[in-house]
Amino acid sequence: MKRILFLFNAHAGRGKIKNSLSDIIELFVNSDYEVTVHSTKGKNDAKETANARGEEFDIIVASGGDGTLNEVINGIMPLEKKPDVGFIPVGTTNDFAMNFNISKINVNAAKSIVLGKPYAYDIGSFNDHYFNYVAAFGLFADVSYATPQAFKNAVGRLAYLIEGAKALTSIQTYHMQFECGDEIIEDDFIFGIITNANSVGGFKTITGHNVTLNDGLFEVMLIKRPSNLLEFSGIMNSLIIGDYTNKNILKFKTDEIKYHSEKLVDWSLDGEFGGSLKRAVITNHKQAVNFLVEESVIEELEAVNDADSNYDDEKILTKIDEDEIINKFKNKVSLDYGIKDDPDEW
Ligand SMILES: [Mg+2]
Repeated sequence: MKRILFLFNAHAGRGKIKNSLSDIIELFVNSDYEVTVHSTKGKNDAKETANARGEEFDIIVASGGDGTLNEVINGIMPLEKKPDVGFIPVGTTNDFAMNFNISKINVNAAKSIVLGKPYAYDIGSFNDHYFNYVAAFGLFADVSYATPQAFKNAVGRLAYLIEGAKALTSIQTYHMQFECGDEIIEDDFIFGIITNANSVGGFKTITGHNVTLNDGLFEVMLIKRPSNLLEFSGIMNSLIIGDYTNKNILKFKTDEIKYHSEKLVDWSLDGEFGGSLKRAVITNHKQAVNFLVEESVIEELEAVNDADSNYDDEKILTKIDEDEIINKFKNKVSLDYGIKDDPDEW
């Protein structure tokens, strides 16, 4: 008989999982699994439990937010025999669940795990810590991506900022040297994001085109400090339309990237604080963990990749009109996310 460790954070999403616990357990039992249930007891418990007991099980089902899943992955990565992983997202929608189109209805997410096929997904490491889908610094990185609203509010605030004369001086810049294979990139940056995801904070254009979650490569985007407001507006516009030909945007794929900096840089890993560091090695571990997802989702992931490879990279703005860009950006943000005009309401 196959064994499931069902590990859940009872406090995630205001305890929403509690309503469906018995249905989920019954579903696992009826699908001929022996189920062990573990309710997590505070920070690091999911990681420690997954690490200590992971090898005893065929599957670990994690239920909670991105933080719970992040802990489970950190727990099983050092194991020689890793269990397959299923995820039941609870609470606010998160990007990771969007990658695999996982149902917000907990029992349906559990069904997808039982019926699911293993999809070998890349896992990132940031020094000695693992992340599932995003490592970031700068502009948005002080905001937890765990709540998409917080991310969107940050974008909204940015839209407000770019109208202000102080915009450029109020944005923190980081002088960093990145090393990627033989290439050295040294510059002043305002934002950097290293992802293995189809979207972050609901922004598809921030991760890029031709994203593949099992190719052993990250999507990297580094944004250089703009020297004037016009350049800054241009960057924001490029981000919205997904045009990476902007000279201030460095966009590439890599399996490993290192950085060092004279000053401490704050990082966010999977939406949680990832440390203040002067250097780090960020490595992609190709197909390191099998996620159980519906077969149709796996097919879709492949199909999306095919479609994306036809993306027209030649869509370049011919004329940059500052007001037009600011308005476009504000409209985009308020249309998509209902951002209010008054910054106090964010
Ligand atoms: Mg990839």
